[in-house]
Amino acid sequence: MAADLTSVYGFPFDVKASADFHESAENSAKLCMKAKEKLDSIFGFSPSFTLYVLDKQDWPLVASMPVYGMPHSGNRRIVMSAEKGELWQNNVDLIQQHVPEAMNPLQAVYADDAGEIDLSSFFFTLVVHELGHTYHTQYPFQFPRLWLQELFANLCNYVCLADEESGLLETLVTFPLWASRLPASEFEYNTWDQFEEFYPPMMQSSNYGWYQCRMKVLAGKLYESHGESCLSQIWRKFAVSDADLCRTIDEELSLGLANFFTDL
Ligand SMILES: [Zn+2]
Repeated sequence: MAADLTSVYGFPFDVKASADFHESAENSAKLCMKAKEKLDSIFGFSPSFTLYVLDKQDWPLVASMPVYGMPHSGNRRIVMSAEKGELWQNNVDLIQQHVPEAMNPLQAVYADDAGEIDLSSFFFTLVVHELGHTYHTQYPFQFPRLWLQELFANLCNYVCLADEESGLLETLVTFPLWASRLPASEFEYNTWDQFEEFYPPMMQSSNYGWYQCRMKVLAGKLYESHGESCLSQIWRKFAVSDADLCRTIDEELSLGLANFFTDL
């Protein structure tokens, strides 16, 4: 069964929304568009994609991640949730248990009408993280480590929300700040080697959320010490085209790969 989605117009990329979530999709697209303008100019490259903002019913028809609310990108799609999900809720429960002093600051930013912590606004900001991934997947190049790939996307997120205009920085940073203080012993995987090795099975779990929150804090520290130039520096170092890669290999190993690629 195909999802019955409506188009939201007025953006430099396609936007598809579940019925009744036109406004959520428009808000998500506005944030994404503003961030895209900034990142296009930093990287000198413009990815193309369709942004999907989906309710629980449409999610399994479009998303490639089974857990509702897990933002993701790939195949020229950015997929976001429109409704509240339970993703990473376990991290909030653990915070309550281990870092009780965090509950007031968390409630100040994320409390819903009933006073419960609702991370929907936090997940809303992550559309920029997923946008960040489209730059390296479409250039295309891969980072030598998954943690570096994720740090890059988190840095994109932080840099784009750091300007005072968006007013969303507090929403992006408050939950990760406290979640990153959870004891490592609470999680099955808690080293960076394990992050590389167990990345696919761990994704979508609260363990993955803990790693992500630690990287979000690091991204903030990098930005505060180096400004947005750290993002362009990482790009210049790792955004290597096939021609550049062949040239580097040939310079060091004399394999003649540049000719091979020309002949292909
Ligand atoms: Zn990511």
